[in-house]
Amino acid sequence: MSYAVTLIPGDGTGPEITEATRRVLEATGIQFAWDLHQAGSEMLEKYGTVLPDEVIESIKRTGVGLKGPITTPVGKGFRSANVTLRKKLDLYANLRPAKTYPGLRSRYENIDMIIVRENTEDLYAGVEFQKGTPEQQEIIETIARTTGTRLDSNSAISIKYISVMATRRIVKFAFDYTRANGRRKVTAVHKANIMKVSDGLFLATAHEVAKEYPEIQFEDRIVDNMCMQLVQKPEQYDVLVLPNLYGDIISDLSAGLIGGLGVAPGANIGNQYAIFEPVHGSAPKYAGQNKVNPMAMMFSGVLLLRHLGEKNAANRLEKAIAQVIAEGKHVTYDLKPRPDDPTAAGTSQVADAVIEKLLKL
Ligand code: NAD
Repeated sequence: MSYAVTLIPGDGTGPEITEATRRVLEATGIQFAWDLHQAGSEMLEKYGTVLPDEVIESIKRTGVGLKGPITTPVGKGFRSANVTLRKKLDLYANLRPAKTYPGLRSRYENIDMIIVRENTEDLYAGVEFQKGTPEQQEIIETIARTTGTRLDSNSAISIKYISVMATRRIVKFAFDYTRANGRRKVTAVHKANIMKVSDGLFLATAHEVAKEYPEIQFEDRIVDNMCMQLVQKPEQYDVLVLPNLYGDIISDLSAGLIGGLGVAPGANIGNQYAIFEPVHGSAPKYAGQNKVNPMAMMFSGVLLLRHLGEKNAANRLEKAIAQVIAEGKHVTYDLKPRPDDPTAAGTSQVADAVIEKLLKL
């Protein structure tokens, strides 16, 4: 049997790490029918959009995508291809595992967390009002009339909204993931002591959903305390579920705890479709140099295999990557003690080393 998967190499260093990942995935023995599609800044010049419709259509056909990073130039006035993909396919859950492997240069050991970030609302909904516009004045008047608080007329306003529907589905996703993967505990992260209404709704809804999963431990943490706890005793946490903004910040913090962006995988998942991609961006300054670490994307490939139900292949690939990390020989500059280490391996050599290990497992 062969799995149809949409393959989006992305731009910058994306094509190199995508090729390395494609090779190791195929070396597991699983058959893939790749549906290759380009997206990113080159497409903008050719088709006037960073995300041609055929990319979306392909994922709607295959149900799954493996994606390299795509550059979003700052202030060029077009929407990020990444955000558009998440919106158009309703990929509401951002899954980011944070796990330490022996050999990684991290201050910690035994971290094995899953960060589940809500992907669609909160301050990221893009509902904003510029200072000095009639809309901003109208909002200020409405707020003054309904709450008695008059905001400074010389201010900009961003709306934070959190709905029961989106909270229910993200918390359910976290519990279902916990159950399906034999994990033990879910921690909901919030600031409901201050944002009693929006984060209060998130927390109350999370407690409601938790009742449907009596065999799974449930607790909550205030986000500032969570940051301190993660720095002091990250090994105590298992699955975290967070609204969009806290999820964004805590998942980068967690990537830092485990040894950096070069090994941090991710996935964007909805009820119908899922896209697997590294957490890091396109690192354009290294494009074409066979230099950056493909492991974050390879670990995203491990998540893809698990999503497809190929548990054995997923475990073998994870183990092979872990062995290459533990040996420390065929690893890229970011995993060496010094970034200018002359023995650092290139992107494709890491793939060779992983494949060699894989074939012995
Ligand atoms: P970045 O993650 O691309 O790179 C930051 C630095 O991290 C790099 O300069 C490099 O030193 C290091 N790094 C990143 N990936 C690495 C790897 N695999 N191996 C070794 N070192 C690595 O972040 P940035 O420079 O802020 O973003 C570059 C572009 O990527 C931006 O246009 C941004 O919008 C985009 N981006 C895309 C995605 C995505 O496609 N999902 C995610 C984040 C950023």
